[in-house]
Amino acid sequence: MIEKKTVIIGAGLSGLLCGKRLAEAGHSVLILDKGRNIGGRLSTRRTDGAVFHHGASSLPDFYNHKELPEFGLKMFKRAEKEKIIQRKGNLFEPINSVADFVNYCGTNLNIRESSEAISLNLHNKTIDVQCRGSVHEKIPYDVLVLSIPPNQAKTLINKQINKIDSLMDKVQMRSSAAALFSFDINPEPVKDKHFSNEKVHILVENNRFKCEQQLFCLTVHTKEPFAKEIVKNDKNTIKELLLKEIIDAVPFSLPKPTYEAGHRWLYGFTERPLGTPYLYYKREKFGICGDWCSGSTILDAASSGIKLGEQILNL
Ligand SMILES: Cc1cc2nc3c(=O)[nH]c(=O)nc-3n(C[C@H](O)[C@H](O)[C@H](O)COP(=O)(O)OP(=O)(O)OC[C@H]3O[C@@H](n4cnc5c(N)ncnc54)[C@H](O)[C@@H]3O)c2cc1C
Repeated sequence: MIEKKTVIIGAGLSGLLCGKRLAEAGHSVLILDKGRNIGGRLSTRRTDGAVFHHGASSLPDFYNHKELPEFGLKMFKRAEKEKIIQRKGNLFEPINSVADFVNYCGTNLNIRESSEAISLNLHNKTIDVQCRGSVHEKIPYDVLVLSIPPNQAKTLINKQINKIDSLMDKVQMRSSAAALFSFDINPEPVKDKHFSNEKVHILVENNRFKCEQQLFCLTVHTKEPFAKEIVKNDKNTIKELLLKEIIDAVPFSLPKPTYEAGHRWLYGFTERPLGTPYLYYKREKFGICGDWCSGSTILDAASSGIKLGEQILNL
Protein backbone atom coordinates (compact mmCIF):
# COMPACT_ATOMS: atom_id res chain seq x y z
CA MET A 1 0.00 0.00 0.00
CA ILE A 2 1.29 3.47 -0.86
CA GLU A 3 0.49 5.77 2.03
CA LYS A 4 -1.58 8.71 0.91
CA LYS A 5 -1.74 12.00 2.71
CA THR A 6 -5.36 13.07 2.89
CA VAL A 7 -6.29 16.52 4.10
CA ILE A 8 -9.91 16.82 5.22
CA ILE A 9 -11.49 20.22 5.69
CA GLY A 10 -14.29 20.01 8.25
CA ALA A 11 -14.38 18.00 11.48
CA GLY A 12 -18.12 17.37 11.58
CA LEU A 13 -19.19 13.73 11.72
CA SER A 14 -18.71 13.14 7.98
CA GLY A 15 -15.13 14.46 8.01
CA LEU A 16 -14.26 12.62 11.22
CA LEU A 17 -15.52 9.27 9.97
CA CYS A 18 -13.95 9.72 6.53
CA GLY A 19 -10.67 10.38 8.38
CA LYS A 20 -11.20 7.48 10.74
CA ARG A 21 -11.81 5.05 7.87
CA LEU A 22 -8.59 6.16 6.14
CA ALA A 23 -6.44 6.36 9.27
CA GLU A 24 -7.49 2.89 10.42
CA ALA A 25 -6.44 1.57 7.00
CA GLY A 26 -2.96 3.05 7.57
CA HIS A 27 -3.15 6.35 5.66
CA SER A 28 -1.98 9.71 6.91
CA VAL A 29 -4.85 12.06 7.68
CA LEU A 30 -4.91 15.70 8.72
CA ILE A 31 -8.28 17.26 9.57
CA LEU A 32 -8.71 21.01 9.77
CA ASP A 33 -11.69 22.74 11.32
CA LYS A 34 -12.43 26.42 11.63
CA GLY A 35 -14.19 25.94 14.97
CA ARG A 36 -12.66 25.98 18.42
CA ASN A 37 -14.07 22.47 18.91
CA ILE A 38 -14.72 19.56 16.59
CA GLY A 39 -18.18 18.13 15.83
CA GLY A 40 -19.76 20.86 13.66
CA ARG A 41 -23.52 20.56 14.04
CA LEU A 42 -22.99 18.01 16.81
CA SER A 43 -22.24 20.78 19.19
CA THR A 44 -21.83 21.06 22.96
CA ARG A 45 -21.34 24.34 24.78
CA ARG A 46 -20.08 24.30 28.34
CA THR A 47 -20.34 27.23 30.71
CA ASP A 48 -19.81 27.33 34.46
CA GLY A 49 -21.76 24.33 35.67
CA ALA A 50 -23.93 23.97 32.59
CA VAL A 51 -23.81 21.87 29.42
CA PHE A 52 -25.94 22.79 26.41
CA HIS A 53 -26.65 20.99 23.15
CA HIS A 54 -27.68 23.51 20.55
CA GLY A 55 -27.11 21.20 17.58
CA ALA A 56 -28.08 17.55 17.13
CA SER A 57 -28.75 15.65 20.33
CA SER A 58 -29.80 12.17 19.17
CA LEU A 59 -29.08 9.66 16.41
CA PRO A 60 -31.60 7.67 14.41
CA ASP A 61 -31.48 3.88 14.90
CA PHE A 62 -28.24 2.85 13.19
CA TYR A 63 -29.20 -0.84 13.25
CA ASN A 64 -31.88 -0.01 10.68
CA HIS A 65 -30.02 2.43 8.43
CA LYS A 66 -29.61 0.60 5.13
CA GLU A 67 -26.92 2.92 3.77
CA LEU A 68 -24.57 2.78 6.76
CA PRO A 69 -21.39 0.87 5.79
CA GLU A 70 -20.14 -1.99 8.01
CA PHE A 71 -17.39 0.27 9.41
CA GLY A 72 -20.00 2.76 10.71
CA LEU A 73 -22.21 0.04 12.17
CA LYS A 74 -19.20 -1.36 14.05
CA MET A 75 -18.25 2.09 15.40
CA PHE A 76 -21.75 2.87 16.63
CA LYS A 77 -22.17 -0.59 18.17
CA ARG A 78 -18.87 -0.10 20.01
CA ALA A 79 -20.06 3.34 21.24
CA GLU A 80 -23.17 1.62 22.61
CA LYS A 81 -21.09 -1.11 24.26
CA GLU A 82 -18.74 1.46 25.80
CA LYS A 83 -21.76 3.35 27.16
CA ILE A 84 -21.19 6.52 25.14
CA ILE A 85 -24.64 6.28 23.56
CA GLN A 86 -27.78 4.44 24.62
CA ARG A 87 -31.06 3.49 23.04
CA LYS A 88 -34.09 5.70 23.80
CA GLY A 89 -37.06 4.24 21.94
CA ASN A 90 -36.19 4.29 18.25
CA LEU A 91 -33.34 6.79 18.74
CA PHE A 92 -29.91 6.73 20.37
CA GLU A 93 -28.81 9.49 22.76
CA PRO A 94 -25.39 10.27 24.19
CA ILE A 95 -25.30 9.12 27.84
CA ASN A 96 -23.22 12.06 29.12
CA SER A 97 -22.89 14.61 26.38
CA VAL A 98 -22.72 14.94 22.61
CA ALA A 99 -19.08 16.02 23.07
CA ASP A 100 -18.22 12.54 24.42
CA PHE A 101 -19.65 10.95 21.29
CA VAL A 102 -17.80 13.42 19.03
CA ASN A 103 -14.52 12.82 20.86
CA TYR A 104 -15.04 9.07 20.54
CA CYS A 105 -15.40 9.52 16.75
CA GLY A 106 -12.27 11.69 16.63
CA THR A 107 -10.04 9.47 18.82
CA ASN A 108 -6.47 9.11 17.50
CA LEU A 109 -7.05 11.46 14.58
CA ASN A 110 -4.70 14.31 13.77
CA ILE A 111 -7.06 17.31 14.01
CA ARG A 112 -6.27 21.02 13.97
CA GLU A 113 -8.96 23.25 15.40
CA SER A 114 -9.29 27.02 14.75
CA SER A 115 -7.94 26.41 11.22
CA GLU A 116 -10.18 27.84 8.54
CA ALA A 117 -9.32 26.92 4.94
CA ILE A 118 -9.79 30.08 2.92
CA SER A 119 -8.52 29.03 -0.49
CA LEU A 120 -7.78 25.89 -2.48
CA ASN A 121 -5.57 25.35 -5.45
CA LEU A 122 -6.76 22.07 -6.92
CA HIS A 123 -3.98 21.96 -9.52
CA ASN A 124 -0.97 22.55 -7.29
CA LYS A 125 -2.03 20.04 -4.58
CA THR A 126 -1.72 22.51 -1.76
CA ILE A 127 -4.27 24.32 0.30
CA ASP A 128 -3.91 27.74 1.80
CA VAL A 129 -4.98 27.87 5.38
CA GLN A 130 -5.57 30.94 7.40
CA CYS A 131 -5.57 30.27 11.12
CA ARG A 132 -7.08 32.98 13.25
CA GLY A 133 -4.29 35.13 14.67
CA SER A 134 -1.51 33.51 12.64
CA VAL A 135 0.05 33.65 9.18
CA HIS A 136 -1.04 31.89 6.00
CA GLU A 137 0.21 28.36 5.61
CA LYS A 138 0.32 26.08 2.57
CA ILE A 139 -0.42 22.42 3.26
CA PRO A 140 0.42 19.79 0.63
CA TYR A 141 -1.80 16.73 0.09
CA ASP A 142 -2.33 13.69 -2.17
CA VAL A 143 -6.10 13.65 -1.72
CA LEU A 144 -8.26 16.54 -0.53
CA VAL A 145 -11.70 16.16 1.03
CA LEU A 146 -14.21 18.90 1.78
CA SER A 147 -16.73 17.89 4.42
CA ILE A 148 -18.45 21.24 4.82
CA PRO A 149 -21.89 22.58 3.82
CA PRO A 150 -22.51 23.01 0.06
CA ASN A 151 -22.58 26.81 -0.01
CA GLN A 152 -19.22 26.99 1.74
CA ALA A 153 -17.80 24.24 -0.48
CA LYS A 154 -18.88 26.17 -3.57
CA THR A 155 -17.07 29.29 -2.37
CA LEU A 156 -13.86 27.39 -1.60
CA ILE A 157 -13.84 25.47 -4.89
CA ASN A 158 -14.25 28.80 -6.67
CA LYS A 159 -15.11 27.39 -10.11
CA GLN A 160 -12.00 25.17 -10.34
CA ILE A 161 -14.20 22.17 -11.14
CA ASN A 162 -16.42 22.22 -14.17
CA LYS A 163 -20.17 22.30 -13.47
CA ILE A 164 -19.76 21.92 -9.72
CA ASP A 165 -21.69 25.14 -9.02
CA SER A 166 -24.81 23.77 -10.69
CA LEU A 167 -24.54 20.58 -8.61
CA MET A 168 -24.18 22.56 -5.38
CA ASP A 169 -27.10 24.79 -6.40
CA LYS A 170 -29.36 21.72 -6.53
CA VAL A 171 -28.98 21.28 -2.78
CA GLN A 172 -31.23 23.25 -0.48
CA MET A 173 -30.32 23.85 3.15
CA ARG A 174 -32.58 25.39 5.79
CA SER A 175 -31.45 27.75 8.56
CA SER A 176 -32.57 27.58 12.14
CA ALA A 177 -32.02 29.43 15.39
CA ALA A 178 -31.36 28.27 18.93
CA ALA A 179 -30.70 29.83 22.32
CA LEU A 180 -29.26 28.64 25.60
CA PHE A 181 -30.38 29.77 29.05
CA SER A 182 -29.58 28.84 32.61
CA PHE A 183 -31.64 29.89 35.61
CA ASP A 184 -30.59 29.88 39.24
CA ILE A 185 -33.31 27.53 40.44
CA ASN A 186 -33.20 23.95 41.63
CA PRO A 187 -33.77 21.68 38.62
CA GLU A 188 -34.63 18.62 40.75
CA PRO A 189 -38.42 19.13 41.06
CA VAL A 190 -38.78 19.56 37.26
CA LYS A 191 -39.45 16.09 35.88
CA ASP A 192 -40.22 17.11 32.28
CA LYS A 193 -37.40 16.74 29.75
CA HIS A 194 -39.07 18.79 27.02
CA PHE A 195 -41.47 21.69 26.67
CA SER A 196 -42.84 23.15 23.48
CA ASN A 197 -45.31 25.50 21.87
CA GLU A 198 -46.10 25.99 18.18
CA LYS A 199 -42.88 27.98 17.63
CA VAL A 200 -40.20 26.18 19.63
CA HIS A 201 -38.95 22.90 21.16
CA ILE A 202 -37.30 23.30 24.53
CA LEU A 203 -34.81 20.75 25.83
CA VAL A 204 -34.22 20.56 29.58
CA GLU A 205 -30.48 20.01 29.70
CA ASN A 206 -29.46 19.47 33.26
CA ASN A 207 -31.98 16.74 34.00
CA ARG A 208 -30.12 14.57 31.46
CA PHE A 209 -26.58 15.94 31.74
CA LYS A 210 -25.88 16.52 35.39
CA CYS A 211 -24.41 19.92 36.19
CA GLU A 212 -22.21 20.59 39.18
CA GLN A 213 -24.27 23.63 40.15
CA GLN A 214 -27.99 23.56 40.79
CA LEU A 215 -28.89 25.37 37.61
CA PHE A 216 -31.96 24.84 35.49
CA CYS A 217 -30.67 24.84 31.89
CA LEU A 218 -32.74 25.03 28.73
CA THR A 219 -31.84 24.88 25.05
CA VAL A 220 -34.50 26.27 22.71
CA HIS A 221 -34.74 25.19 19.06
CA THR A 222 -36.99 26.94 16.57
CA LYS A 223 -39.71 25.14 14.62
CA GLU A 224 -40.74 26.07 11.08
CA PRO A 225 -42.00 28.60 9.94
CA PHE A 226 -40.91 30.58 13.03
CA ALA A 227 -37.25 29.67 12.30
CA LYS A 228 -37.47 31.40 8.91
CA GLU A 229 -39.05 34.45 10.51
CA ILE A 230 -36.35 35.06 13.10
CA VAL A 231 -33.11 33.58 11.80
CA LYS A 232 -32.06 36.77 10.01
CA ASN A 233 -31.89 38.64 13.32
CA ASP A 234 -28.64 39.09 15.21
CA LYS A 235 -27.83 36.60 18.00
CA ASN A 236 -28.88 39.03 20.71
CA THR A 237 -32.33 39.57 19.24
CA ILE A 238 -32.70 35.81 18.66
CA LYS A 239 -31.94 35.23 22.32
CA GLU A 240 -34.54 37.78 23.42
CA LEU A 241 -37.22 36.41 21.10
CA LEU A 242 -36.58 32.86 22.28
CA LEU A 243 -36.67 33.85 25.94
CA LYS A 244 -40.20 35.13 25.32
CA GLU A 245 -41.13 31.70 23.90
CA ILE A 246 -39.72 29.97 26.98
CA ILE A 247 -41.82 32.14 29.23
CA ASP A 248 -44.83 31.20 27.10
CA ALA A 249 -44.10 27.44 26.97
CA VAL A 250 -42.77 26.62 30.45
CA PRO A 251 -45.71 26.25 32.86
CA PHE A 252 -44.05 27.94 35.86
CA SER A 253 -42.36 31.29 36.35
CA LEU A 254 -38.64 31.72 35.79
CA PRO A 255 -36.22 34.30 37.21
CA LYS A 256 -33.87 36.37 35.02
CA PRO A 257 -31.39 34.01 33.31
CA THR A 258 -27.88 33.70 34.77
CA TYR A 259 -26.54 32.73 31.33
CA GLU A 260 -28.06 33.47 27.93
CA ALA A 261 -26.78 33.07 24.38
CA GLY A 262 -28.36 33.08 20.92
CA HIS A 263 -27.12 30.94 18.03
CA ARG A 264 -27.82 30.74 14.30
CA TRP A 265 -27.36 27.66 12.16
CA LEU A 266 -27.17 29.16 8.68
CA TYR A 267 -26.88 25.69 7.09
CA GLY A 268 -28.67 23.70 9.78
CA PHE A 269 -30.80 21.15 7.94
CA THR A 270 -30.93 19.62 4.48
CA GLU A 271 -34.18 20.39 2.67
CA ARG A 272 -33.18 18.87 -0.67
CA PRO A 273 -30.10 16.60 -0.80
CA LEU A 274 -27.78 16.19 -3.76
CA GLY A 275 -28.92 12.60 -4.29
CA THR A 276 -25.57 10.83 -4.24
CA PRO A 277 -23.60 9.70 -1.15
CA TYR A 278 -20.47 11.71 -2.01
CA LEU A 279 -18.63 13.30 -4.94
CA TYR A 280 -15.18 12.25 -6.10
CA TYR A 281 -13.11 13.85 -8.89
CA LYS A 282 -10.42 11.39 -9.93
CA ARG A 283 -8.19 13.74 -11.92
CA GLU A 284 -8.14 16.40 -9.20
CA LYS A 285 -7.96 13.75 -6.40
CA PHE A 286 -10.68 15.67 -4.66
CA GLY A 287 -13.80 14.51 -2.80
CA ILE A 288 -16.80 16.04 -1.09
CA CYS A 289 -18.93 14.51 1.66
CA GLY A 290 -21.55 15.64 4.17
CA ASP A 291 -25.07 14.80 5.33
CA TRP A 292 -26.48 16.95 2.52
CA CYS A 293 -25.11 14.63 -0.17
CA SER A 294 -27.77 12.00 0.48
CA GLY A 295 -29.90 13.06 3.44
CA SER A 296 -30.21 15.15 6.56
CA THR A 297 -29.16 13.18 9.63
CA ILE A 298 -26.08 12.17 11.57
CA LEU A 299 -26.27 8.74 9.92
CA ASP A 300 -26.33 10.30 6.46
CA ALA A 301 -23.22 12.31 7.42
CA ALA A 302 -21.51 9.16 8.74
CA SER A 303 -22.42 7.09 5.65
CA SER A 304 -21.23 9.82 3.30
CA GLY A 305 -17.84 10.23 5.01
CA ILE A 306 -17.16 6.50 5.33
CA LYS A 307 -18.17 5.78 1.72
CA LEU A 308 -15.88 8.54 0.44
CA GLY A 309 -13.07 7.13 2.62
CA GLU A 310 -13.63 3.71 1.04
CA GLN A 311 -13.56 5.22 -2.45
CA ILE A 312 -10.18 6.81 -1.63
CA LEU A 313 -8.89 3.46 -0.31
CA ASN A 314 -9.83 1.83 -3.61
CA LEU A 315 -7.89 4.28 -5.79
C1 LIG B 1 -30.22 22.32 15.56
C2 LIG B 1 -29.95 21.02 14.88
C3 LIG B 1 -30.47 19.84 15.39
C4 LIG B 1 -30.23 18.62 14.76
N1 LIG B 1 -30.74 17.49 15.31
C5 LIG B 1 -30.43 16.28 14.77
C6 LIG B 1 -30.83 15.07 15.41
O1 LIG B 1 -31.43 15.09 16.50
N2 LIG B 1 -30.50 13.88 14.80
C7 LIG B 1 -29.78 13.83 13.63
O2 LIG B 1 -29.51 12.75 13.14
N3 LIG B 1 -29.38 14.97 13.01
C8 LIG B 1 -29.68 16.18 13.55
N4 LIG B 1 -29.22 17.33 12.95
C9 LIG B 1 -28.43 17.21 11.72
C10 LIG B 1 -26.98 16.77 12.05
O3 LIG B 1 -26.44 17.65 13.01
C11 LIG B 1 -26.14 16.79 10.78
O4 LIG B 1 -26.74 15.89 9.85
C12 LIG B 1 -24.68 16.34 10.96
O5 LIG B 1 -24.14 16.77 12.17
C13 LIG B 1 -23.90 16.90 9.77
O6 LIG B 1 -22.54 16.52 9.85
P1 LIG B 1 -21.54 16.98 8.68
O7 LIG B 1 -20.19 16.45 9.00
O8 LIG B 1 -22.11 16.61 7.36
O9 LIG B 1 -21.53 18.60 8.70
P2 LIG B 1 -21.14 19.65 9.87
O10 LIG B 1 -21.47 19.05 11.20
O11 LIG B 1 -21.80 20.92 9.49
O12 LIG B 1 -19.58 19.79 9.75
C14 LIG B 1 -18.93 20.71 8.91
C15 LIG B 1 -17.65 21.19 9.62
O13 LIG B 1 -16.88 21.97 8.69
C16 LIG B 1 -16.29 23.05 9.39
N5 LIG B 1 -15.95 24.05 8.36
C17 LIG B 1 -16.78 24.73 7.54
N6 LIG B 1 -16.08 25.54 6.71
C18 LIG B 1 -14.77 25.34 7.00
C19 LIG B 1 -13.52 25.88 6.49
N7 LIG B 1 -13.51 26.76 5.46
N8 LIG B 1 -12.34 25.48 7.03
C20 LIG B 1 -12.33 24.58 8.06
N9 LIG B 1 -13.47 24.04 8.59
C21 LIG B 1 -14.67 24.41 8.06
C22 LIG B 1 -17.36 23.47 10.39
O14 LIG B 1 -16.77 24.17 11.48
C23 LIG B 1 -17.92 22.10 10.81
O15 LIG B 1 -17.27 21.58 11.96
C24 LIG B 1 -29.45 18.57 13.57
C25 LIG B 1 -28.90 19.76 13.04
C26 LIG B 1 -29.14 20.96 13.69
C27 LIG B 1 -28.55 22.22 13.13
